Amino acid sequence: MGLLSGFLLAYLVGDAYASYCDFGIPASNATVNVRVFNVANMTLLNETHAFSLPVLPGHESSTFPMYSFLVEHKSSQKRLMFDLGVRKDPENTPPAFASAFSSGFAQLEPYKDITVLLQDGGINLTSIDAVIWSHAHFDHVGDMSTFPNSTKLMIGPDTNLTTFPESPTATLQASDFAGHDITRVNFSNAKLTFSGLKAVDYFGDGSFYLVDTLGHLPGHLTALVRVTPKSFVVLGGDTFHHAGQARPRPPVPEELPLPRAPLRRIQAAPHREMPAYIGLPFQQRAEAFLSISNLTDSFYADPAKAIVSLDKVASFDADPDFFVITAHDVSLRSALPYFPAYLNGWQASKLKEKAVGNFIDTTNPAFVFSPV
Ligand SMILES: [Zn+2]
Repeated sequence: MGLLSGFLLAYLVGDAYASYCDFGIPASNATVNVRVFNVANMTLLNETHAFSLPVLPGHESSTFPMYSFLVEHKSSQKRLMFDLGVRKDPENTPPAFASAFSSGFAQLEPYKDITVLLQDGGINLTSIDAVIWSHAHFDHVGDMSTFPNSTKLMIGPDTNLTTFPESPTATLQASDFAGHDITRVNFSNAKLTFSGLKAVDYFGDGSFYLVDTLGHLPGHLTALVRVTPKSFVVLGGDTFHHAGQARPRPPVPEELPLPRAPLRRIQAAPHREMPAYIGLPFQQRAEAFLSISNLTDSFYADPAKAIVSLDKVASFDADPDFFVITAHDVSLRSALPYFPAYLNGWQASKLKEKAVGNFIDTTNPAFVFSPV
């Protein structure tokens, strides 16, 4: 079903937020299963400003999860991983990253390597056909040397594979991909575009798409995972880091009533340092609460491109057919059904309705709109 028929459907059902069809996504009955792990929780000291703005006093440091996804293609029985989180021994990453851990600037709560989590869950590593890195930062690439060489590696077209020590400032090392077949996603002749983003149909049946989302790092990938014929989970990587960078977006779907209770609490007890915009009724806001950092030490390599990608992925987020999970969205941490549960039923279980407003709940760790 193309864009035109999507609009026709929208017209026929009288629904302003008709469906995924409006984004140019073809119809298909092919689906994949998807499950999520939170590999680790990491705190970065005094770095919130490198992710999102404004930073309010008391929130200069951030603690966030690292989600890793197991995707299972039903008809071919192939398994993929999308992002791996941080390896078990981050001190053995190249100095550009290892120094963050030795200095105490980056702190990790106790955790297990994703390969241990998989095997603890009965998933044989030889059954993992491929690993996809949304991008090549240490908190996404895991430790590929713990996977068998039969596991392929898929990366974005412009992902920088320069290694340490040949290049002293490189953030990867040879063992991060040695022995694995590497494929770069080729968007140059992509026939599909979703909401203006180039897309590649990974299995060729509409069940799993890789989408070109530039900005955070060259070659950054997002995945669109079809979990039922008409609903998707969007694995957003580091397209953005905080739910408040994506929400709200006009128009807020009527089907997705944001929780009123947190807003009422905020309005009842405004803190003197709370931004004035918080007090406005949520649905009257036309802009997200937080913006992507454009400071000189921003974690977004190209903030201008990152804003474009954010806008596109946020348009999925504002549509009832998509559930967007970015790699470090702490607002979802207590809401997600983790492995061995499946994310496929998110729409039927109303997970999005329950979780989408978490970030403006004062009891949620994503609430960064007033000092603690
Ligand atoms: Zn990153």
